[in-house]
Amino acid sequence: MNREIPYKIYLEENEMPDKWYNVRADMKKKPAPILNPATLQPVGVEDLEPVFCTELAKQELDDTTAYFEIPEEIRNFYRMYRPSPLVRAYCLEEKLQTPAHIYYKFEGNNTSGSHKLNSAIAQAYYAKKQGLKGVTTETGAGQWGTALSMACSYFDLDCQVYMVKCSYEQKPFRREVMRTYGANVTPSPSMNTNVGRKINEEFPGTTGSLGCAISEAVEAATSQEGYRYVLGSVLSQVLLHQSVIGLEAKTALDKYGVKADMIIGCAGGGSNLGGLISPFVGEMLRGEADYQIIAVEPASCPSLTRGKYVYDFCDTGKVCPLAKMYTLGSGFIPSANHAGGLRYHGMSSVVSELYDQGLIEARSVEQTEVFAAAEQFARVEGILPAPESSHAIKVAIDEALKCKETGEAKNIVFGLTGTGYFDMYAYQKFNDGVMSDYIPTDEEIAKSLEKVPKID
Ligand SMILES: *Cc1c(COP(=O)(O)O)cnc(C)c1O
Repeated sequence: MNREIPYKIYLEENEMPDKWYNVRADMKKKPAPILNPATLQPVGVEDLEPVFCTELAKQELDDTTAYFEIPEEIRNFYRMYRPSPLVRAYCLEEKLQTPAHIYYKFEGNNTSGSHKLNSAIAQAYYAKKQGLKGVTTETGAGQWGTALSMACSYFDLDCQVYMVKCSYEQKPFRREVMRTYGANVTPSPSMNTNVGRKINEEFPGTTGSLGCAISEAVEAATSQEGYRYVLGSVLSQVLLHQSVIGLEAKTALDKYGVKADMIIGCAGGGSNLGGLISPFVGEMLRGEADYQIIAVEPASCPSLTRGKYVYDFCDTGKVCPLAKMYTLGSGFIPSANHAGGLRYHGMSSVVSELYDQGLIEARSVEQTEVFAAAEQFARVEGILPAPESSHAIKVAIDEALKCKETGEAKNIVFGLTGTGYFDMYAYQKFNDGVMSDYIPTDEEIAKSLEKVPKID
């Protein structure tokens, strides 16, 4: 096999982007505006300010500015772990005996172990600049809470994390990493907030959900002086910060004259996928190039492939603004069986709109086949992937095997969002042969969708 292209395409520090790219600026039909849950009117910065940092609220609502300067302080932090490598998966290609060329953009090279640090550091920076004391947030699988604790300790901000109770119990080491970085971690639902007490009363013994932890974190932010709420996915500001992934990937491919045919990413709230594909979708929107883009979601929480494109609440407590998105209903609680951070009921409004316009495709995959792909990848490529990332691996392998049949040498690029060292409980279940695939029935989804608000 000809191995002219290096295994790892590293960029120089000065090739790191100095601006984030806002794909909404190039969309002719924009994502629908987010609505105030009380008035059902589009929100303005003044509506968001009590909850979000002002600069982040502005980024959230700006769908016309194409490029945002990355502040020097954030770029300095990025330099500690970026540019991240684009890796040519020669060993996986050889193992699969495929003519396809497989590349992955690896975001697991920092202590938080995922891409989430790219936005955490930006959000902490704007909170600090605004003179806040601290921020509150929720975390499901724990990666976001970890990234945010690192970012807050860097800028000397207080960090309060509401961690979904079942993860809090199942992932004690994640919790300990957060505490090591100085964060205060509370299992959710807790007795600290009104919404937590209410949920505990209504569902005694509940092990929590992301939607419920969001409601608690928002309440904690708005009830303490000098605090704001921050979120690790779904929001357009997070996609904006994550565009650093796609911009670097594009620079690295361009450097070697490689044109991607297919770009694949896992989709939970849509931030890594949105960030990875943004510059490529921008080219599609401007009519400069064409790509096949695939969002991969778990069959247990299939918002794009089986959800509805409607306005819905972003949280269980219904305190956050309403967003038009592909959703399974804010009351949808995915099977506790499912490992990892792709368990959100909705999807980024940007990714939802791109999907609705037919610019991207979506596929859902089952948990056991995802772990089989993860192991296949780990054994030849040397990285133990996060279960979330392994959804993308699964589809990349499927597509590479299709190329083997057709003899096409397609260039496949996928996002390897993180490492799976804190997911060994799930790997253990897979290795012991006791992992199951839970797929919600049509009735379950329909029942949950009945409760979405009726707004046109
Ligand atoms: C959180 C997470 C995801 C999913 O979140 P998105 O916002 O959809 O990107 C994927 N991979 C890893 C490793 C994560 O931590």
